[in-house]
Amino acid sequence: MSVTVRFAPSPTGNIHIGNARTALINWLFARKHDGRFILRFDDTDAERSSQEFADQIERDLRWLGVEADAIERQSARFESYRAAAERLRAAGLLYPCYESTDELERKRKRQLARGRPPIYDRSALNLTDDDKRTLEAEGRHPHWRFLLPNFDGDPANPVRTEYHWADIMRGEQTVDLASLSDPVLIRADGTYLYTLPSVVDDIDMAVTHVLRGDDHITNTGVQIALFGALGADPPEFGHHNLLTTVSGEGLSKRLGSLSIASLADQGYEPSAVASLAVLTGTSGPIEALEDLAALAGRFESSMFTRSAAKFDPHELDGLNRRLVHEMDFAAVAERLALLEIGGGEPFWLAVRDNISKVSEASQWWHIVEHARPVIAEEDRGFLTSATKALPEEPWDAETWGRWTAAVREETGRKGRALFMPLRLALTGLDHGPELAQLLPLIGRERTLGRLS
Ligand code: GLU
Repeated sequence: MSVTVRFAPSPTGNIHIGNARTALINWLFARKHDGRFILRFDDTDAERSSQEFADQIERDLRWLGVEADAIERQSARFESYRAAAERLRAAGLLYPCYESTDELERKRKRQLARGRPPIYDRSALNLTDDDKRTLEAEGRHPHWRFLLPNFDGDPANPVRTEYHWADIMRGEQTVDLASLSDPVLIRADGTYLYTLPSVVDDIDMAVTHVLRGDDHITNTGVQIALFGALGADPPEFGHHNLLTTVSGEGLSKRLGSLSIASLADQGYEPSAVASLAVLTGTSGPIEALEDLAALAGRFESSMFTRSAAKFDPHELDGLNRRLVHEMDFAAVAERLALLEIGGGEPFWLAVRDNISKVSEASQWWHIVEHARPVIAEEDRGFLTSATKALPEEPWDAETWGRWTAAVREETGRKGRALFMPLRLALTGLDHGPELAQLLPLIGRERTLGRLS
């Protein structure tokens, strides 16, 4: 059986690093099993969904390195949902209910007051055709509930009905269908809740593994029942722990700075974001892996822990820094050119250890070209001697060593007293990349200008 997975975001906002975790887990799982990855937009809610968000989600995934083998839209598949609903109705498994939200709330309160679980009592099943006509004549429109297979002859008397599934991330799971209300599949205005379209799609698209956040565990029992009612075997399920803030709060779509688009804008490397998104809350260490292929090598569906995956966005800086320090010139050449940074490979190798993000190379390029020398009065004489000892060009990585040896000879200074005034004069800063590497980039003419 070849593997097919899907990532099914609602295009009602930007995706954040927590959504990226789900997307990446699906993509890595597909890659590991030579399977297919479907990007499926859960966009049945026409009012809240937008093409702009869908486009942005595609861009965000591409930025992460996640390419979909197919893109599907629920908004193009209403006919399939209608046909599935019709089949369920014909089988007596989808029944109309007329209670208003207020009425349902009152029922709930009564049940709770009597110490009973607030499960829908199925009273709508007792309505005669006449009752329904009367209710509809009053202007009521029914919503439709799926009759869960949790009874033995009499739906008014649910009996313990255990469903089990071997969750590929959490191990054996059990749900008692008698503990659940018959779920509403279709609202009174005719729109679909998420449940039916999702199951119909998973069947039609031959999804073999549903991998998603553990906030969906409670939906799984109902969905397994619905697969059965529609004559299909359920897929395998895997529920991963959700990323939360350090204080344990969930990430909402509104948490702007952690949206993928914003992390990209802030200059983080996609693989730093992907590494943090996937490796947090697993049994392994959180490391910056250089690309998704490396992450796939690490990925196991059993590696996710059961507790919340708390993460600190500041960890991204460290991961990013480690990636940047290892990056070859070829990997950044285009980006440096876009930032109008010159100096080629020697410049990149000189500065990469001093930056956390590729874009920060600009600051050092600016220093190569336009540093403002800092010169202490007491060092003026020393710098005059240094000027006299400055070798002729061509310069290379050995020039700094030859020059400073000559200056030491000439002035008797050594260590910090020798190097710091030169660094301050050449770069305006008391720290930075190796001067042996920067000096040839600064060049003799600019060096002379900065020493006086
Ligand atoms: N649209 C749902 C969500 O984003 C998909 C859930 C699922 O994967 O089944 O939560």
